[in-house]
Amino acid sequence: MNDFIKSIPDSVKLVAVSKTHTVETIQQAYNKGLRIFGENKPQELVKKYYELPKDIEWHFIGHLQTNKVKYIAPFVELIHSVDSSKLLAEINKEAAKNNRIIKCLLQVHIAQEETKFGFTPEELQQFLSENDFSQNRFTQIAGLMGIATFTDNTTQIRNEFHTLRKIFDTLKQTTFANNSDFCELSMGMSNDYKIAINEGSTIIRIGSLIFGERDYSKK
Ligand SMILES: *Cc1c(COP(=O)(O)O)cnc(C)c1O
Repeated sequence: MNDFIKSIPDSVKLVAVSKTHTVETIQQAYNKGLRIFGENKPQELVKKYYELPKDIEWHFIGHLQTNKVKYIAPFVELIHSVDSSKLLAEINKEAAKNNRIIKCLLQVHIAQEETKFGFTPEELQQFLSENDFSQNRFTQIAGLMGIATFTDNTTQIRNEFHTLRKIFDTLKQTTFANNSDFCELSMGMSNDYKIAINEGSTIIRIGSLIFGERDYSKK
């Protein structure tokens, strides 16, 4: 794990994806110096938040239902997976109740699989043209997130990340030209993070490479 962490450029933030792992396992990773952890189930995240040190920065990386936003709004730092106006409005509302700003990434569907959530590039354009984000005082659009197709075809993965990077660059020069908050590109997991970093990722989300394979049977 240490060699892997040393190999990551300073400009790239590491989110340790701790979903399904115990608080003891996360505490061990914390003791080795990791401070940013990612979870994809609201209830699991809340439980871990209460049991673990308070200087952990918690990221939410999975599909988020609007009725679950209230559980994580008091403490979540960055939500990687915003994919509708309704969800963004709900996050803004719950952030306001907690008198804090929650950073959000817009999730873009770049993979070929049907099951992945996120805006298509066309839907993203539509969403951006229809929403006035300055009205949402308690959320900050901090950038984009994407998941590449699960495949051994590295050319395909590279193309998908490249597409996302292009969309990100274009938005930085247009919609978000006067908004320095829009600066993060969350792409890259255990199997494809090297390609993602080469394609300009600023945040990688790494689970199995840090914690080993997940065992869903224990749950
Ligand atoms: C589980 C998960 C990861 C981490 O996956 P690994 O392959 O274990 O690194 C990253 N991003 C999202 C959205 C995930 O759900």
